[in-house]
Amino acid sequence: MTERSLRCIKAANAGVMTGAGTNTYLLAGGTIVIDPGPIDPAHTEHLVRLAAGNLNWILVTHTHRDHSPGALLLAQETGATLVGMRAPVGENQDQLFEPDWAPMHDEMLELGDYMLQAIHTPGHASNHLCYLDVQRGILFSGDHINQGTTVVIAPPDGSMQQYLDSLELLRHYPIRAIAPGHGSMIEEPARAIDSLIRHRCQRELKTLRHLRELSADGEVSLDILLSRVYSDVPLSLHPIARCSLQAHLLKLEKDGLATSPDSLRWWAAAGD
Ligand SMILES: [Zn+2]
Repeated sequence: MTERSLRCIKAANAGVMTGAGTNTYLLAGGTIVIDPGPIDPAHTEHLVRLAAGNLNWILVTHTHRDHSPGALLLAQETGATLVGMRAPVGENQDQLFEPDWAPMHDEMLELGDYMLQAIHTPGHASNHLCYLDVQRGILFSGDHINQGTTVVIAPPDGSMQQYLDSLELLRHYPIRAIAPGHGSMIEEPARAIDSLIRHRCQRELKTLRHLRELSADGEVSLDILLSRVYSDVPLSLHPIARCSLQAHLLKLEKDGLATSPDSLRWWAAAGD
């Protein structure tokens, strides 16, 4: 893809969760924007200027507040069509996002001369869509796959099983590069996907091992487990890791390997 047809503009919301900031992509000569970012009039005005009157479609990968809220102002200023899935109930969700067009899984979106395939990829968020430029093999992955920051899986909307399934699903698509929601372009997509799956599986095994050890004589709290399972992660990131640990434990519970009355106290399931 040429420089002219794909541009990445970072929103000014750098942080622990967002890395250098949310990536907003402008493509097809400014006719399409993917993930307009948080509410930030300066960012929106920048996008309007770059689109130079050409913007027709605003695509949203999901409705977390660092990805979709800028869509409303951008649509008001340009009259562009909003594409994406409505927000589920929950914290950190942009309930104001009202799509004009909610794509089905695998739907081919004809956007002028441009074609993007919408791929439903729940896990990080239940309403998460990736968009694949089939012709060029570029996957706009939102927060399903990031570069440089770890994707948080926060139940109840986030699901570790769905996240792993959605990573596996991507193996079936002709992806040559990944344009993530945070971080820089990923040039070896198959290797990146393998590495993400391996990382989550290793964390799950570590969770199970510590759960079995610590609950041999009774219940173990989520926070004790957190300190053991994420001992390799800086303490400052533990509040975020706590969400993903819960997601791992809920998956283990579904697999019949863990049990809990309240998601805060856990035991390894009897038997295996
Ligand atoms: Zn997100």
